[in-house]
Amino acid sequence: MSDKKGVLVVFSAPSGCGKDTILRELFKKDTENEFVLSRSMTTRQPRNEERDGVDYYFVTREKFEELIAEDGFIEFAEYNGNYYGTPKKPVEEWLSGGKTVILEIEVQGASKVRAARPDAAGIFILPPSLEELERRLRNRKTDSPETIAKRIALAPGEIAQSKYFDYCVVNDDIGTATDEVYTILKNIKEDKSNV
Ligand code: 5GP
Repeated sequence: MSDKKGVLVVFSAPSGCGKDTILRELFKKDTENEFVLSRSMTTRQPRNEERDGVDYYFVTREKFEELIAEDGFIEFAEYNGNYYGTPKKPVEEWLSGGKTVILEIEVQGASKVRAARPDAAGIFILPPSLEELERRLRNRKTDSPETIAKRIALAPGEIAQSKYFDYCVVNDDIGTATDEVYTILKNIKEDKSNV
């Protein structure tokens, strides 16, 4: 176990900005296992290949509300009709172990984390344009046309929140965006460790 406290990082983007791909590539670069991705709990239905305990903890609204009552979340939000939340206990353990803990969450959750944890850093991923975002969401073919339309409608409001984040990265090219995020994370860790 490290004697240095870890760093909490909020990682947000409108749906379809390539957040998941960036994270996947980022973890391939993390050969020293410095980064951990917090696994969220949600009440939405699993998509095609998603698995419980891997992509999310998929639970009922009753179970989610029980954990809210027990103060078991760092933050939670209702997004597009479903609950999403970050379980508190594992995050605290990773931070004590000196890890850089990444929370992949939408903007409402990000603002709650900022309020509760001013020491957290924020990274926001931007699409090259709204037209490109719409094209990517349609090509993904994982959501119904209604869900895609809702996600597109939410995007401008989400992008407006990017000003509250410490770092913004435009995802025009996955490799370049991943490199930028990796550099930011390495520096965050060093900056905070030297305080
Ligand atoms: P999706 O349904 O596409 O997996 O996620 C929808 C949105 O919920 C995404 O913006 C995702 O980052 C966000 N999200 C995932 N987990 C959490 C969480 O624990 N808390 C909050 N507030 N948002 C989350």
